[in-house]
Amino acid sequence: MSDNNAFTIDQLILEQPFAGLGEDFFTLTPPEGLPSPRLLHFNTRAADLIGLPDGIANHPDTVEFLSGNRLPATARPIATIYAGHQFGYYVPQLGDGRALSIGVTNHATQGKQELQFKGSGRTPFSRSGDGRAVVRSSLREYLCSEAMHGLGIPTTRALSLVDSPLPVFREGTETAAVIIRIAPGFIRFGHFELFYHRKQTNQLRALADYVIAHHYPEFASASAPYTVLLQEISRRTAVLMAQWQAVGFTHGVMNTDNMSVLGLTLDYGPFGFLDRYEPGFVCNHSDEMGRYAFDQQPDIAGWNLSRLAQALSPLTGEADARDALQDYPRQFASAYINLMSAKLGLPAQKENVSVILSMLELLHRNQIDYTIFLRRLCDFDSDTDSNNAALRDLFINRADFDTWATDYRALLARHPHPDRRTAMRQVNPKFILRNYLAENAIRIVRDEGDTTEIDRLLTLLHHPFDEHPTLERYADLPPDWAQELSLSCSS
Ligand code: AMP
Ligand code: MG
Repeated sequence: MSDNNAFTIDQLILEQPFAGLGEDFFTLTPPEGLPSPRLLHFNTRAADLIGLPDGIANHPDTVEFLSGNRLPATARPIATIYAGHQFGYYVPQLGDGRALSIGVTNHATQGKQELQFKGSGRTPFSRSGDGRAVVRSSLREYLCSEAMHGLGIPTTRALSLVDSPLPVFREGTETAAVIIRIAPGFIRFGHFELFYHRKQTNQLRALADYVIAHHYPEFASASAPYTVLLQEISRRTAVLMAQWQAVGFTHGVMNTDNMSVLGLTLDYGPFGFLDRYEPGFVCNHSDEMGRYAFDQQPDIAGWNLSRLAQALSPLTGEADARDALQDYPRQFASAYINLMSAKLGLPAQKENVSVILSMLELLHRNQIDYTIFLRRLCDFDSDTDSNNAALRDLFINRADFDTWATDYRALLARHPHPDRRTAMRQVNPKFILRNYLAENAIRIVRDEGDTTEIDRLLTLLHHPFDEHPTLERYADLPPDWAQELSLSCSS
């Protein structure tokens, strides 16, 4: 969009191809809108994806659009229907209960991107919910989408965050917010499960054909398109799980309705990044059994893929559906070893498994911060031990670290690297969205109305591998009060 001043939201051209599937798949639903909306943040980086000029945030009509009060003429807002396994149990009908697809843009270089409201009010799928989201959860999703993107992890993006004095009742009374998220698509495993469990094979096939046509066109001419589709979703999910594990991300609610068929991180609720390395970390205090604990995620994703395979089996045949997932464990393991090897400054090879595992045990045993350890490891000096003080000092039991370092040093010696430090810094983030940083931002934005904290965090999170010397404190260990924070699904 060349002329910044002339462009208005009304000129945004949107299509709604999903509506072509017919009314078994969605319900046309207008957003409820928000009284006295206030634009808390506009993400110009995500705006680039859909060709919106930076200056558009200042146009008075823009906040009316971003809050759902006024739609561009081409918008056709729909709530889609899906189902899903929640905490292991099948729920026959869910759906976009507080989300709405606004439409799909087609940008010359960025391609097609779908825009979706979250928190825009009730839909036919809201069940007993109010269709709303609160500022707290919306800001968390906004920040984490961008943090994951900055870390190079596939995710939905966040375009805008608007709040309003409208009261919303959760554990106490809070106020409403609406975000717009952007992704190539928002189709979930649960969309397929719905039609499988309803034995609606025609609709199931139409949905699979839609996903192939719009997101995996290269499979359209394959001899078994639905099987290769499943294989590719499985492969992308394996890679995504490896990325989550390598960075220390816990999603918190890995129900099949929160799993993207595009392999994106989707639906940020009670997510959490590891502070100290704790494999059994459960970020969602409603998850009493620890089903979605940090170290369970790869297996849970495998189980979720089995539910998707079952749902697609009328199209693929049962044997092919099962076989399509066969490579999942190997693909996960190899992606994880590759990522972890790079984090340790080593070439990707199976031989590194033992030093990776012994490192994780070392960190767990000594309760060491995962991100800080790896960032300091970038400066590890194989030759002069006195240069490793900052790293060793993380440990009370320094001898424990020294034992591991001996093995690590031996591996490094076998694999010389011209600039290991720089390479390691490009894969070991200095800044992650620690829970306390998100909580701090919520307090500052909500209580003080100061949104510059969002700018500061996004500066760091969009470039988490850089040093940012003036914002050093954001890389610190969490303060003591952060240990008490707990999160639930209620948002
Ligand atoms: P989640 O656990 O956030 O993935 O949500 C599970 C299901 O509940 C989805 O169908 C959501 O659309 C729906 N849902 C969650 N919160 C609300 C709400 N406040 N109002 C209506 N539906 C909701
Ligand atoms: Mg969800």
